[in-house]
Order: sequence, then structure tokens, then C-alpha cells
Amino acid sequence: MATEPLSPPEPAPVLPSPVHYAIRPINPAAHLFEVSCRVVDPDPEGQLFALPAWNPGSYMLREFARHVISVHAQARRRPLAINKIDKNTWLAARAEGPLTVTLQVYAWDLSVRGAHLDDTHAFFNGACVFLRPIGKQSRECTLDILPPRGGRFRSWRVATALRRRDAAAYGFGTYTAANYDELIDHPVEMGTFTLERFRAHGVPHDIVITGAHDADMRRLAGDLKRVCEAQIDLFGRPAPMDRYVFLITAVGEGYGGLEHRASTALLCARDDLPRRGEPVDSESYRTFLGLASHEYFHTWNVKRIRPAAFTPYDLDRENYTSLLWAFEGITSYYDDLMLVRAGLMSRDEYLTTVARSVTSIARTPARRLQSLADSSFDAWIKYYRQDENAPNAVVSYYIKGSLVALALDLTLRVETGERRSLDDLMRLLWRRYGKTGLGVPEDGIERAAIELVAGTSRSARGGARAAGGPGSRRRAAAAEGRMRAFFRRAIHGTGELPLAEMFARFGLRLTLRPAMSASDRGRFVAGATLAPPRRVDLAVRLASEGEARLQYVLDGGAAQRAGLAAGDTVVAIDGLRVNAKSFDARLQRLPVGRMLSVHFFRRDELRQAEVEASPARADTCDIRLAPGRPAPAMRRWLRGARR
Ligand SMILES: [Zn+2]
Repeated sequence: MATEPLSPPEPAPVLPSPVHYAIRPINPAAHLFEVSCRVVDPDPEGQLFALPAWNPGSYMLREFARHVISVHAQARRRPLAINKIDKNTWLAARAEGPLTVTLQVYAWDLSVRGAHLDDTHAFFNGACVFLRPIGKQSRECTLDILPPRGGRFRSWRVATALRRRDAAAYGFGTYTAANYDELIDHPVEMGTFTLERFRAHGVPHDIVITGAHDADMRRLAGDLKRVCEAQIDLFGRPAPMDRYVFLITAVGEGYGGLEHRASTALLCARDDLPRRGEPVDSESYRTFLGLASHEYFHTWNVKRIRPAAFTPYDLDRENYTSLLWAFEGITSYYDDLMLVRAGLMSRDEYLTTVARSVTSIARTPARRLQSLADSSFDAWIKYYRQDENAPNAVVSYYIKGSLVALALDLTLRVETGERRSLDDLMRLLWRRYGKTGLGVPEDGIERAAIELVAGTSRSARGGARAAGGPGSRRRAAAAEGRMRAFFRRAIHGTGELPLAEMFARFGLRLTLRPAMSASDRGRFVAGATLAPPRRVDLAVRLASEGEARLQYVLDGGAAQRAGLAAGDTVVAIDGLRVNAKSFDARLQRLPVGRMLSVHFFRRDELRQAEVEASPARADTCDIRLAPGRPAPAMRRWLRGARR
């Protein structure tokens, strides 16, 4: 927390840099940045410059060059020809000596992966604005961050995890990066943000909030410190970064985050932040903490332990890997679990989040069609480009990935007699790949998990003397076979995860039942519950407001069988008008099994279909404690302890 003054490191002396950038909000009202890139020794055959097609961490081609509205080049103070050769790339004419290319970039995307500028603030990801001089991207570069011109911007400051070279703390001036990848991995915020600071195991952390808010900054700092320290403890000290910045934009409604090596950009609803002077224990605040925890975990898992396919990133095109289930799923598993370990989420609240994930996957028909490996590989064209058929075609490598990570944690615990867990696997990956900078091969995680189990079962009984004997070799081979089967089923297959069996060994009962209401997403159940009422379910999901427009029609459900399609607007059920609000209530007054007359518009044409009032399926998860005393194995699991 910010009780002690933090003294940031002294800026290094200024030396000429082979690649130098400058960025200035040149016209906040028109949302324009002016961005220049100067190369001291351009390619004598003509220098190529490219803008990334995507932003690492967000797996979709976004073609940031589409926001470039003008390009000029000059060398030795004279204009130089520069031409586009493809959508992202420019070729400057042959020139000697320093060559400068200047862009004007339109910035009106208030997302964590974009750039945004008006007269209240400026935010950018480097991938949106900084040209990459081809052939020189491994060189050290410097960056002048310049304020908009005019007295009314005098109170603006700068927040970024970039290293300062000739700038005061939080000031405009010169910053530096070891190479282009590092330059674009540090988003920058300029404006009149709120700032709070804390240390986590000695590492300075900043919390920067842009946008109107009434957050209790001290509370936030205290809670984030606990989350950060729990994660540093997991991977081991020292933390891999020498400072860290949470760049938060608070808005009316919004949610998102993007990870970076020493910072994260977060977008959240201002009401999710804890209010000054009020004790907070709200679900929405825990959701915010979960988001912050998620992006922080990426500091290790994807920014440093990263797929070979991202080593290095190819910024011009898709980078294919089947491992996003591990980088996003394992991270999603730990984001809430870390809140439990930090004392910010109770066991029961945590088990409710697990129950909701199970429900979400049970309601996704695509789980029987698409494996996690395939969902990862196709993220570029499927997960990131979801349409009306998404629940039937795309399984989330975040949500199913988090359940597989949970199952992997429990499996490692069972297979090793609780001597090893997913924590150990993460530390092994950290030592093997994170610390060395080697990319994780496509089978690297599976192999590491098998090694961990085989190694532990070899030395499990009889100590070192028995290790290597025929009995221990047999045990190791059997354990290895079971781990291979686990990965085949969970990552490469589309069968159901045996979560109920696994939970039973940890003192928990997991059951699926029909939903009680339209808003029922499953939960941890403390006491006895009534049997759920028999409900009608047409296997559709509606757009949330206004007319009863079908957003999704699930494969194999009553609505699809009757010929209804996504985009149809249902106007009446059995002759009575319905809208988004009354649709479910109307259905629930009708007996299960009857044929219903449904009137709907497709395009502008009124149509009618006979739809079976089919019974709701058992797709809603309850988690309970098994009868008897709470199992010590469950407590150890949640605490991250071994036997
Ligand atoms: Zn993530």
C-alpha cells in the first residue's frame, strides 16, 4: 500500500538510439495521434515498415493499419517517397542517413486492445501505432511520449510500465525498450488518472484508474496486494518483473482485460470497484478482482511460459497453437482460486463459480463436437468471431479449459498421493520454459505432467532405494498411461469430463439437474433443497431486451426440430403475445409435453410452427459437501497444500 514513498529507478543517461519513436495526441477532438519512427541506418535497398495485424493476447487479425489516415517520409529534411505494398506494409524509397516516417492514426476504440483519444485522456497499445522497421525489430528503441499542445492539458500525466530514460516519474519525456516486441508490450495511458501504489513482495505496483469513479483506492491496493503476493508465492520469488502497472478504465458497463509482461489493461464497470467508506463483499467486486487476478497470472503463464508458436510472435498473420486451453484455461482456473488463497473469496463462493462453469459447458452442445485443442487452434476464426451458431460449434477454451485445469489439478493430486499438484506443474513449466525463454512445444505441457507423475510414483514408496526397481517402474508406467488417457480425453477428445467422480474423492458431490428458472446457473448448495419444478425448455436463448428475438437455437432442441432459427422473432405462444421479458413466464404456465403454436417473424414474414413443450434437460450444476466431515483433501486442494 502507498504508506511509504516509492522512489522509481533513476533514468539512464541519454544516448542516440538506432530506432527512435515519438507519439503525440495531435488532435484530441478528431481522435488523432501523430506517431513517428526514425531509423538511423535505413536499408540501402529501401526500408520496409509494417504495422502489426494483431495484438498478442487477443487472437484475431484486427489490421491496425486500417486506422492509419496519412503517411509521410523524409530523409535529411527532404520529403521521401513511401508506398504501400500490402495492407500492413510500406516501402520507403532508398535513402542515406536518418529516415523518419510519420503517421497520423485515428484512435477511437475504447477497448483494452485498441487506442483511444479524446480531450479527457489518451490510451494506446503499441501494436496500434508503432511501425516496425523490418530487419531492425531486435534493436533497442527509444520513445518520446509527448503531451497534446495547449494549456488545458498541463495536468496530464503518463502511466506505463515502459522504462524511463529521460522523463520524471509519471511524466512526459523519453522512455526506452530493448526491442520492438518490448515496445509494443507496454500500453500507455495519458491523462488525469487516479493513482495508488503498493508493493507486493517488494515489487512496486501501480493502480491507475481513468474515468469517473468513487473507488476506495486503499481497499483496492490492499486486496490486489494479497492477490499478487499469492501468485508470486506460487511461482516463487523473486517476481519476474521489477515493477507492475494495473491500467484500469472505469466505464458504465464493460468488462475486459489484456495481459502484458509488466502491466495489464483492464476495462470494468465503475460500480464493480469498491466504494469509499463502504464495506464491500459484492459478487461484482469479486468479478473485478478475478479479472485482475487473471491478467496478473498471465505475467507468468503466456507472457513468459509461452507456446513455441509465439516464440517469437509473427505479427503479420495468425500464430497457430493448440495450447490456448493451457494459457487461458489454466489461467482462468487460477484466477478465482487465487482469490480463495488470498482470503478474498470463500470456499462456498468459489464452488459456486465452479458450478456455473460446469453449467455453462453443459449448455454448450459444441462440447460434443469440438475438442479444446481444436478450439485453441481455430481461436482466430471461431472463438474470436462468434456468430449465432457459436454454442453449437465453439467450446470455450477459457471455461472448459478452466474445468480441465481443475480436473488436471485433482488428477495430479490423486496420482501422486497428494505429493504433487498443478502448482508443481506450473513451477516445472516456469523453470523449463519461463525462465529460459524457450517456447513450449505443442506436447510440452502433457509431457511435463506425465514426467511429474511418473517421477513421483517411481519414488513414492520405499524411498530412493526402491526407486528404479521393477515395482516402481510398473507403477510409473501405469500412472503414465492414465495421464495420457486424461489428455486424450480432456484436450483432444469431446467426451464428458469425469468431474463428478473426481469431486467425490475430494468430499464433494456434483450433480446436474434441470434449471429452476431462466436465471438459474447452478451453485454451491449448503443445505437441503426442494426438487426442481418440471420446466419447459425450447433450447433457445433470447437477445436480452425488447422483442423475443432468438439469439441462439441449440442443436437438437425443440425449437430447432420445429424449424425455428436464430434471428427469428417470436411474437406469440399459443395465441398470446410474448416479448423478451414475458417469454419464459409464458412457457412455464404450459404443461410439459404439449405441442405449442408459436407465431414468429422471419425477415418480415409472419410464420407459424408447432413446437413441443419439451422438458428442461439436466444442464444445471449443483455442488454440495458429501455427507460426513469435510474432507481434508478438499481443504488441501483449495489452500494449495500438499500432504
Ligand atoms: Zn487470459
